[in-house]
Amino acid sequence: MFIGHFGVGFAAKAVAPKTSLGTLFLAAQFIDLLWPTFLLLGIESVRIDPHATAVTPLDFVHYPFSHSLLTVLGWALLVGGGYYAIRRYVRGAMVLAALVVSHWLLDAIVHSPDLPLYPGSRVFIGLGLWSSLAGTLVLELAIFAAGVGLYLKSTRPMMRRDLVLGSLVAVLVLIYLGNLFGSPPPNAMAIAWVGQAQWLLVLWGYWADRRRAPASGKLLQPGLSGHG
Ligand SMILES: [Zn+2]
Repeated sequence: MFIGHFGVGFAAKAVAPKTSLGTLFLAAQFIDLLWPTFLLLGIESVRIDPHATAVTPLDFVHYPFSHSLLTVLGWALLVGGGYYAIRRYVRGAMVLAALVVSHWLLDAIVHSPDLPLYPGSRVFIGLGLWSSLAGTLVLELAIFAAGVGLYLKSTRPMMRRDLVLGSLVAVLVLIYLGNLFGSPPPNAMAIAWVGQAQWLLVLWGYWADRRRAPASGKLLQPGLSGHG
C-alpha cells in the first residue's frame, strides 16, 4: 500500500489540526520510511518477483524491524512520545502514534501473509488483497480521496492561488500509478534508494501545510474548500 497511507495522513488533520501535514505523513508512512534504510544496512531484505502478487512485484522476505506488529507498537510510542516531548500537544502525539499503527493495519489488509507479529515470530499476517488489482485500487483510492477531502475541509488556503497542495496530490497519484503499471524495479538496492526519495514527500507535506490555515469552524464556508 502506498497512497492509502498518505490518505490516512491527510485525514488525520481533521483530528489533530495543529499538527503539520508533513508530520502526519511522517507518522503514517514511518515504517516505510525506515524500511529503505534497513534494506541498505542489510538487516532487512526484499526480493523482486514479477509474479508475487497482481499489484506489486515485491516479495517481502524479511522485514521484522520495520514491519512486525511488536516493533511497530514501539515505533508508535517513539514517534508519539518524541512529538509530545517537542510540541507538548497531547492530541497530536496520540494521533501520530495511531497513524504509525494504522500503517501496519492497512498493510495487513493488502499484503500476502508476510507481516510478522514480532521479530523471530513464525506467525505472519496478511489478508492478501493484493491478489486483486481492482480491489486494491478501489480501497486505496477511496481512502486517499476521503483523506484529501477531509484535509481540504479542515484547512483553508492562505493565498489566492496555491499550487503546492494540488501538485503534491497529483505527484502522489502519479507515483502510485507508476508503481502499479510501470516496469518492476531492477534490483533491491534500486528499491531502497528510490524509497529514500519518500522523505521528499514528507517535506512537501510541510511545505503545503504552511500555506494553509486551520478552517477553525468555517468548515462550510462556500468557495474555500475547493482550492488548492
Ligand atoms: Zn509498509
